[in-house]
Order: sequence, then structure tokens, then C-alpha cells
Amino acid sequence: GTADLDCDLLVLGAGPGGYSAAFRAADLGLKVVLVERYASLGGVCLNVGCIPSKALLHVAAVMDEVSHMAALGVDFGAPSVNIDKLRGHKEKVVNKLTGGLAAMAKMRKVTVVRGYGAFVGANHLEVEETSGTSQEKTGKKQTIAFKNCIIAAGSQAMRLPFMPDDPRVVDSTGALDLKSVPKRMLILGGGIIGLEMGTVYSTLGSRLDVVEMLDGLMQGADRDLVKVWQKMNAPRFDNIMLKTKTVGAKATPAGIEVTFESAEPGGTAPAPQTYDLVLQAVGRSPNGKKIAADKAGVSVTDRGFIPVDIQMRTNVKHIFAIGDIVGQPMLAHKAVHEAHVAAEVIAGELLGNNELASAAFNARVIPSVAYTDPEVAWVGLTEDQAKAQGIKVKKGLFPWTASGRAIANGRDEGFTKLLFDDSPEAHGHGKILGGGMVGTHAGDMIGEIALAIEMGADAVDIGKTIHPHPTLGESIGMAAEVAHGSCTDLP
Ligand code: FAD
Repeated sequence: GTADLDCDLLVLGAGPGGYSAAFRAADLGLKVVLVERYASLGGVCLNVGCIPSKALLHVAAVMDEVSHMAALGVDFGAPSVNIDKLRGHKEKVVNKLTGGLAAMAKMRKVTVVRGYGAFVGANHLEVEETSGTSQEKTGKKQTIAFKNCIIAAGSQAMRLPFMPDDPRVVDSTGALDLKSVPKRMLILGGGIIGLEMGTVYSTLGSRLDVVEMLDGLMQGADRDLVKVWQKMNAPRFDNIMLKTKTVGAKATPAGIEVTFESAEPGGTAPAPQTYDLVLQAVGRSPNGKKIAADKAGVSVTDRGFIPVDIQMRTNVKHIFAIGDIVGQPMLAHKAVHEAHVAAEVIAGELLGNNELASAAFNARVIPSVAYTDPEVAWVGLTEDQAKAQGIKVKKGLFPWTASGRAIANGRDEGFTKLLFDDSPEAHGHGKILGGGMVGTHAGDMIGEIALAIEMGADAVDIGKTIHPHPTLGESIGMAAEVAHGSCTDLP
């Protein structure tokens, strides 16, 4: 044909989904081309998402911990922050990881093509070269022919249409730039991303307001978990505006003046407020409409998602899609697992390996974590869902006020909760259906509950598994014992 380059598999987008798919396919013996418009691999997660946010959150958590230490007898005094050095640390972390990815791509002989990709047919993608850190198009184009394709083009932050174009209005990418620490900051949208960034800024000295349309922050998590986080974090906020819509914003010399409306009929609106920084964290929209998917015959929904089956296949047999672009939850670990499925199915079909070709995404659960302080983590069925769906569950709750380790750490505000099937068919030996934790390091521990759900464990399995003492993870075994009705009270 007329292609400049051809391959078994073209992967469009080098985020956690894209690079994981490319690497797995290359390991399975396929000739892989990975197309990415950014200068570095890793997508949103490594460059402007999971990783830089956690680099800053770690520093914030240490600063907060240090401020608690005075009560324990050690006073470090007031922190002195060098914001340029802090930003430099974050950049070093990102560069180390994205550089590692580039080396791994090279080692696996994955061809990385830098540029903006758009379909020109069912087996051809045109790539317009980009250069520099701002993704400017150079005008140079090439066409890549592929046998199979995986679309992993991700998502981008949504913006409210009436927000002024002003450096004092940012999305998460702008907030991660950490140009300065504003006095008053508005977080628009009370989800995980907004609250994580708010944690960083407030620890560095900003006063926070948050506005959320729904009736609570951190939607998706059980309210009892969120309540603990909210109690600990109340001092960071001047105003928590729930059931409130943001309806206007105006750039003034004094700041961004934002106006609100009650989301409830007849409700009273909070007074307009002026902020030094407004963070838009109202959700992310998929990039499905920006890749000329129609030229390949691939269906895209009105909102820009690409529908797929459990093998991650689109309506076009040889084209797959993974990650944020296929739907919620928009999380890196989901993208990675979907990537492995798609790569294995494609390799299996090309190489005539039936076992690989029958790979499917059949994870029972996908954990969620808010890396705030304390952390909030949950997986599987929540108590709110169980109630709403009329599912009978037995709850095992272990408060960290009874955890020796949490008390020793001076951080016993958290708890661990497990939910077991309590339907008549379970005969009192119900399997674990879900769990949640709030407290320091909750995110690092939720994986055990995910494993228990995937393995179909019951309360005895978890309670009789010997957890090391004294650890926070022990609280999972204890919660299982509580559910099973045999709680020993080991401190
Ligand atoms: P992306 O990471 O979005 O990657 C898509 C890539 O495709 C991008 O590099 C993009 O440049 C490229 N691309 C798109 N279109 C084209 C084109 N036409 N041509 C060439 N290249 C193209 N998730 C977690 O699991 N844990 C977290 O802690 C977490 N924290 C987050 C914090 C923030 C601030 C944000 C914004 C997100 C966070 N996420 C987190 C979500 C996570 O970043 C995403 O779920 C994940 O990056 C999705 O991976 P992906 O491969 O689908 O797409």
C-alpha cells in the first residue's frame, strides 16, 4: 500500500492503557507501533495525574504529620516551603518514571511515533508530527498501516463554558503546575481529584471552599467513611457548599468572582465569592470524538466514549479500545487490566493461540482510593448500594481506636469495614461482597480486600488468616472476626 510504516498492532495513546497494551503485545511477539502526541510516554497518569499528585500529596502528608507531632512531644516549628524546589521534586519523579517507560519501549523494540493520530481508514492511521513540550504540529505527516489497533486515547478535564480564560482558573493539570499558593481557593466539584489537589494546597497554606451539586463530597464512597475524612479535614475549609450549582464567573482585579445557585428548588444560594484560584474538577470527558473514529467505522457515543465488549473489542472486529475512553471508572489500574486483555486477544488471534484469544475482562471489582489525609478506600459493594439494591449483608466493622498500631501512630480516627453476603442461600457463611477503609495508608491495604472478593473468601477465611501484629492491615482480619462474631480484643 501507500503506508510509511506497517505493523501487527498500532496502539493510539501511550497512557497506562496504551503502554501496557504495547508492552504486553511486544512480549507476545507482535510488531508494535505506539503513537503518542506528548513528548513523553505515560499519558495523564504519569505526566499530569496519579503520579505528580501523589508526589505532592506525600509532602503534604508529611507536613501534616509533623504538625501533629507537637502534641506528642516533638515540635518542629513552622514549615518553610520552597515551592520551586517542591515543583522540581515532582518533575524529577515524573521524569524518572516516563524515562523508564521510554527505555522499556526501546528494550521491547516497540516503535514510538510522536504525533497526533487520526484514522483515515479501517486499517490506516495518519500521524501528524508534534514537537516540543506544547505539542505543536510540525506539518509533517505519515501514514501507518495496521492489522489490529487498540485505541487508548484517554480523556481530558471538562471545563464549564462560562469560566473566563484566565490564569487564575485552572484544571488539575494547571493545579499540578504549582505556580504559587493562593490565599483563597475554590474547588469546583467535590470528587477525588479536586479534594486531593485541595489537600495539597491547603497544607501549603490556602484556605479552601468547595462547591458540589450533589448532597455529599467524594461520591461513590459510603458516607460513614467520608464522615471521618470530613471531620478531620473541616479545618481546611471555609465553606463546603453542597447541593449547589456554580452558575457564573467573572475575572476581576481582586480575583475570580464566582456566583452560585441552589441545586434544590426553592433553596437559597450562597453569596458570590472572590477567589485567587479556581480549580475546575468537574469530571473528565473521553477523547473519542477527536480521532476520526468514523473513518475506521468505529462507533462513538454522543459523549465521546467508545463501546466495547468484554474482550475490549469495538464494533469493528480488528479494532479494540481500552482505558478512560471506554468508560467509568476512569482509573489507571482499570486501563492496565483492559490493556492486557486486548493485547492478549489480538496476539492470540494473530498467532493462532486459542487460550490467549479467549482472554476477557472479568474482574469482579475495581478498587477506588482517595489519597487524601486520611485516605479513603473502597472496593466492591458499598453499604449504600446494598441498601439501595435490597441486598442483605452482614457487616464487620473494626474501629481503629482498638488498633494498637493506629494508637501508637497517634492516628486512630479510621476504621475498617467488611460486608458479607447474608442472604438465606449463604447459610451464615456468606462470601465477602465489599469493603471500605478510612485512615492512614488505607489505599495500600484495600488490595487485600479486592483479593478476598476475587477469591470468594468468607469471614472465616479472612479472620483465620494470620495478619502481622501490630499493623493497620490487621484491622481487616479483625473486621472479619467481628462479622463472624468471634472478636478477640487484641490491642
Ligand atoms: P491517558 O492516560 O489519558 O492517556 C491517553 C494518551 O493518549 C495521552 O498521553 C494522550 O496524549 C494520547 N492521545 C490522545 N489522543 C491522541 C491522538 N489523537 N494522537 C496521539 N496521542 C493521543 N487514576 C488512578 O488509578 N489513580 C490515581 O491516583 C489517579 N490520580 C489522578 C489524578 C489526576 C489529577 C488525574 C487527572 C487523573 C488521575 N487518575 C488516577 C486517572 C488516570 O490518570 C487515568 O485513569 C489514566 O491515565 C487513564 O489511562 P488511559 O491510558 O486510558 O489514558
